[in-house]
Amino acid sequence: MKNKTVIIKDIINSFVSIPKGLWITLVNWSIARPCVTELYPEQKRQLPQNYRGIPVLPVDPKTGKSRCIACGACARMCPEHIITVEIDKSDPKDRKPSEFSIDISRCMWCGLCTEACPVNCLVMGKDFELATYTREGMIYNLEDLMRLGGEFPAEEVVEEIAEEKKEESES
Ligand code: SF4
Ligand code: SF4
Repeated sequence: MKNKTVIIKDIINSFVSIPKGLWITLVNWSIARPCVTELYPEQKRQLPQNYRGIPVLPVDPKTGKSRCIACGACARMCPEHIITVEIDKSDPKDRKPSEFSIDISRCMWCGLCTEACPVNCLVMGKDFELATYTREGMIYNLEDLMRLGGEFPAEEVVEEIAEEKKEESES
């Protein structure tokens, strides 16, 4: 059984805690303090530049197609072996994939596939709302990856990326 002092302390604390809590609410409920709550999904979060989403294949604005040359380097590099690339042999002078797919249910967003790409056509996208009801829905084909990739960034951005990679490999 609690002694009298402890009981009195508990009673005092219970009365003190109410104004204490109200004071904290009052201090934080002020127009001077910026709102920190994100109203997702109505408001989409601003993602950092280096955010890694699903690997995607942006299209070249000049051709409307992916710049992929179907070399398969990304598939060989992927530690999860979830990338499938099939070469289109219809025109020997124009290397392109006839099929390209990624099973993102097993992707760990490591970005190694993008690092291996010799033409920098595979980049980490910004999409994160990827939930589906089926496993098949997690397999993204060439069209899906191009749609998610949007248009390829301006030429100078591509050159910047290539320069960065070159510097990284030299250091
Ligand atoms: S991000 Fe990593 S795990 Fe995902 S496809 Fe690329 S290499 Fe594979
Ligand atoms: S490494 Fe690049 S060019 Fe080669 S198959 Fe993959 S995405 Fe295409």
